[in-house]
Amino acid sequence: MERWLARTTAEHVRRMPEYEMVVCKDIETCRQAVREARRAGRSVGLVPTMGALHEGHLSLIRAARARCAYVAVTIFVNPTQFGPDEDLDKYPRQLSTDLAACEQAGVDLVFTPDVETMYPAACHTNIHVGGVTGGLCGASRPGHFDGVATIVTKLFNVLPADMAFFGEKDYQQMVMIRRMVRDLMIPIAIIPCPTVREPDGLAMSSRNAYLSADQRKQAASLSRALFAAVDRIGAGERDAGKITSVIREEILSAGPADIEYCDVVDADTLEVLNAIDRPARICLAVRIGSCRLIDNVGIGNVEKSKSQNIKTRGLL
Ligand code: AMP
Repeated sequence: MERWLARTTAEHVRRMPEYEMVVCKDIETCRQAVREARRAGRSVGLVPTMGALHEGHLSLIRAARARCAYVAVTIFVNPTQFGPDEDLDKYPRQLSTDLAACEQAGVDLVFTPDVETMYPAACHTNIHVGGVTGGLCGASRPGHFDGVATIVTKLFNVLPADMAFFGEKDYQQMVMIRRMVRDLMIPIAIIPCPTVREPDGLAMSSRNAYLSADQRKQAASLSRALFAAVDRIGAGERDAGKITSVIREEILSAGPADIEYCDVVDADTLEVLNAIDRPARICLAVRIGSCRLIDNVGIGNVEKSKSQNIKTRGLL
């Protein structure tokens, strides 16, 4: 493990002869590596992360591996997306374990920049994506999505990939980045990847480590409630208010929790819906103790039949 740290901190760039994974803290070296890969006709896939890698991250890396000949992963705990009272300082950091996981997954390049590299002094540009960032997490985490949009734009410029892979676990983030790439004409395809869950349904997250054993049990209520809601919609319920009430009840019946939001939104615009009459997403954020958890599920194409009964074509 230590070999990674020594090599990344002392030497910045190192080609591992046995695996050929490059670990790099320097922008120009990354650009060069990506340029070379593209010149050699290799498609480049990018997986941005904040580290503390788990199966969710690894599923993104596997998706990138399946579609791209060259895979770059970034590991950077981005300070600008954390609010002043959030968990920046205690966010889990385990670089050597992460590098071993990347190597195991066949990653070609890992970019692990320092904060000073990504935010040199006198950095006055901030990216704000309007519309889709107004509600859900955007309402309760002011500045969060600007921080994400800004760092992702920087990473896209350092590693000009063909495709970038984002988890639907952070659905609003994925939608925002898809929108930003369209609006700014950034030539990178955004590939959404399904949420990976623990056996009891809890969406995997680096922050799950903050949960006590009891809270961990309670946390399974989020996905249980979401899946029960999907079943109700499948059975014909179209009233979004009824659906969110049922979800809230299910979560609160599992123990004390603060439901920050629970909304049914348009899958593309994230506009809050009263009636489930189009592809939608049910999104929620819940605090259990001091741990803030988010989750969401998709509701597929919904159509009205001739008799005005609404049929569900498929649930995502
Ligand atoms: P993070 O390290 O939390 O910034 O996440 C990096 C990427 O991994 C983001 O695109 C996340 O949406 C994705 N991700 C995190 N958890 C999961 C999960 N359980 N399933 C799928 N993707 C995930």
